Amino acid sequence: MKNHNTETRRGFIRKIGIGGTFAALGAMPALASFSDAKEKKKSKNGVTLNLGLQEGVAPGESLSQKLDFMEANGVYGLEVGGGKLASRVTEIQNALQNRKVKISAICAGFKGWLISTDESERKKCMDTSKEILAAAGALGSYGMILVPGFNGQQPSFPFVEARAILIDQLKELGEFAVKNNTTVILEPLNRREAWFLRQVSDAAAICRDVESPGITCMGDFWHMTWEETDDMGAFISGQKYLNHVHVASRKTRKAPGEDEGDNYVTGFKALKMINYKHFVSFECGTKGDKKVVIPAALKLLRDQWELAV
Ligand code: MG
Repeated sequence: MKNHNTETRRGFIRKIGIGGTFAALGAMPALASFSDAKEKKKSKNGVTLNLGLQEGVAPGESLSQKLDFMEANGVYGLEVGGGKLASRVTEIQNALQNRKVKISAICAGFKGWLISTDESERKKCMDTSKEILAAAGALGSYGMILVPGFNGQQPSFPFVEARAILIDQLKELGEFAVKNNTTVILEPLNRREAWFLRQVSDAAAICRDVESPGITCMGDFWHMTWEETDDMGAFISGQKYLNHVHVASRKTRKAPGEDEGDNYVTGFKALKMINYKHFVSFECGTKGDKKVVIPAALKLLRDQWELAV
C-alpha cells in the first residue's frame, strides 16, 4: 500500500510539480489499484466518485469490522484522526493489509495554531503537524487536514498579518510534507468555528501564494452550506489545489439524505469539471442506525453523481 513511499523526493516533486497540477497525485502508485476496482463507476467524462468514511462514521466495534463494512459497501477511503497517530501507524498498516481500503486523509490532531501571536503556540502547531505528516506519509495518505486557527484560539494576529505569517510557515510545512510524500490540506470552516478561513477560494489563494506542491486545500459541503454562494463556484475555485472533500447532510451535519432536500449535484458537477481525483469523505453524525443510513447515503451520493452532467 505504501509503494509510493519508495519514490525519491525528486520523483515525487516531479510528479506533482511539473505542469502545476495536483491531479497528478491521483496517479500515485499507492492509489493505482483504485482505477481497477470493478465497483467503481465511471462517469461519462471518466471522473470517478471515490467515497470514503471517517473511522468514527463507519459502523463496527473494531477497525476490522469497520473495514469489512466499507468494503462490502464499495467504500475504499478511510479517514483517521491525527491525534496520537504515530502510535497507531503499525496497527493501521496491519489492518489495511490485503484490503482495498486506503487512507484518504488524516483529520487534524495537531496542537497550537499557526496564526497565534504567541510564538510557542505556532511552534507547537508546526512540531505536532510534522509528527502527523510523517505518520500520514507512512500510511500513504493524500494529506493531513489543517485549520490555521479556530475562533476560540486567541490571541491571533489580525487578518493581513495572520495570512502573511501563515504563508511563511506553510512554506516550511509544505517542504516537510513533500519530503514525506504527503501534503497539508487546508480546511475552510464556517464562521461559527473559524473566522480566518471560511471559503474554498480563500484556501486555494493561500495555496497559490505558498507555491508548494505540499500545500493543498479542501471543501466541506456542510461548512460550504453556510459560507459559499454556490457549491459549483466553490469547488471550481479550488482548482488544482483541491485535494479532499467532506460531506454531510446540509442542515444538521448528519448522514447525507438524513436532512430533507440534501443536494450535492452542482458540487459534483464542479468536481467532474476540475477532474477531481481524490475522495469524498463522510464527516458527520447520524440520526438513524448507521448500518441503514450510511448505505442509503452512499446510494444517494452515487445517484446524484450520475445526475451531475
Ligand atoms: Mg470538515
